[in-house]
Amino acid sequence: MQQPIIGYHRDEQGHWVAELICGHHQHVRHQPPWTERPWVTSEAGRRSRLGLALECVKCDRGEPRDNPVND
Ligand SMILES: [Zn+2]
Repeated sequence: MQQPIIGYHRDEQGHWVAELICGHHQHVRHQPPWTERPWVTSEAGRRSRLGLALECVKCDRGEPRDNPVND
């Protein structure tokens, strides 16, 4: 299911996590060559992706919302 990004935070390893409007969180790693997301490494890039939809597999699985504090 496609869900828009409403914010971001970092996990305990410093990886960026997108917060989706459905209440789920999703890692948005930049790990070339497997996952190329250079936009996630800059503040401007992350801001430019706000409101864009990511595929949320947690919605498809019917998983409960992620805790906004402890991810
Ligand atoms: Zn979701």
